[in-house]
Amino acid sequence: MGRTLQLHRFSGCMEIGVSLERALEITTQLMMEVTSEVVLLEDAAGRVLYSDIASKVDDPRFDNSAMDGWAVREADCQVTGATLRIVGTSQAGAGDVPAVGEGEACSIMTGAPLPEGADAIVMVEDSTVQDGSVTINGPARPGYIRRRGENLLEGTVALNSGTLLTPAAISLAATMGHGDVCVARKPRIAVIGVGDELTPPGKPLSEGAIYESNTFGISSLVKKMGGIPQRFDLIRDSIDNLRDVLDEAAKSCDAIITSGGVSMGKWDLVRRIMEEEGDVRFWRIMMRPGGPPIFGSWKEKPIFGLPGNPVSSHVVFTVLVAPWLSSSMGCDEASGPRLANRVRVLMEEPLRGAPGKLCLRRISIRQDGDALVGTTRTHQGSGNIHSMVAHNGLSLLPPGNDCDKGETIDALWLC
Ligand code: AMP
Ligand code: MG
Repeated sequence: MGRTLQLHRFSGCMEIGVSLERALEITTQLMMEVTSEVVLLEDAAGRVLYSDIASKVDDPRFDNSAMDGWAVREADCQVTGATLRIVGTSQAGAGDVPAVGEGEACSIMTGAPLPEGADAIVMVEDSTVQDGSVTINGPARPGYIRRRGENLLEGTVALNSGTLLTPAAISLAATMGHGDVCVARKPRIAVIGVGDELTPPGKPLSEGAIYESNTFGISSLVKKMGGIPQRFDLIRDSIDNLRDVLDEAAKSCDAIITSGGVSMGKWDLVRRIMEEEGDVRFWRIMMRPGGPPIFGSWKEKPIFGLPGNPVSSHVVFTVLVAPWLSSSMGCDEASGPRLANRVRVLMEEPLRGAPGKLCLRRISIRQDGDALVGTTRTHQGSGNIHSMVAHNGLSLLPPGNDCDKGETIDALWLC
């Protein structure tokens, strides 16, 4: 049966040659079902919150000092050299705190409760102590008092569902009194490499064989996005073998990523089996590199057929699969895990665009004064994975647009 016929058969629901924006839109029609689990806070770094978190306490819990020094009454310290009687010490964690009356001072440590009667703090550096008294040589500052609840009031939701738990967010959850948190379960993603020529690295190579790299790269990307990659044995170019592995992957995983076999070639079996037996939503994106991806579902599980060229598979994962994984886990663009940030870059060299296609050339981005500046280093072939290591960014040249030296362009700065 001819390819044209097959495409014809599916053209009702399948779009061919879509823009990246349209491809992203179509992927949202088939999201993964991600459920939740409760994990200890110490295990929660890098996870995505599944519910809002409200504070169980006021933060700070009580008025306290921001400095080591003296708790005083501001009115007693109007003149330099005022001498105040020492009434005791307020230490962090201590319960009993002496009150401060007129003409009195209480030694106070950072974070210790403010004594009753005190309304300002003098830094220890601005004082001298002699015979049970302290002489004040510097300003008494109300601003050195951290007021109860000034950061957060009990009941305030300070972390929202869909937030990536960064180290700072973990600290905040602990500050709010949460020893465990409800997070999105890590999605299990099947990673399947397809091609007769592929040999696992470390094994002897036969004539015409090459080392397989994409399933390793894609698995690392899945991990970086907070998923659990499940690598399957490499698939020879056999449609029966491919069908069996896709079936197995659909049973054990939440989504499937394949690499290779999605172009126009006779042996591009992922495309063929998807067209004949799967549900295809789109094939091909108007971008370079990374033109041939296919997307749809296999046995009810979302499936991304990525191109085999190593750069293409990385680029398509970065711009298409990563945002999908992030929103499947309940994140919005700003707060979720991601692989790149959109920036404006001043190019030091000209870049060639691609007619009719968004062009993602590998560029090196660096800060130079106020500007981000871009250059290119290695050659740009989509088979040259070294270009993804030697550079840290991707141009976003609109279809048909070249970039002159000195022009500022949109780009992705890879994280
Ligand atoms: P394909 O998309 O199957 O036509 O493959 C395009 C190019 O990528 C060919 O040169 C393949 O040898 C290469 N390739 C395909 N899959 C992989 C892989 N898993 N690792 C490394 N290279 C690959
Ligand atoms: Mg192939």
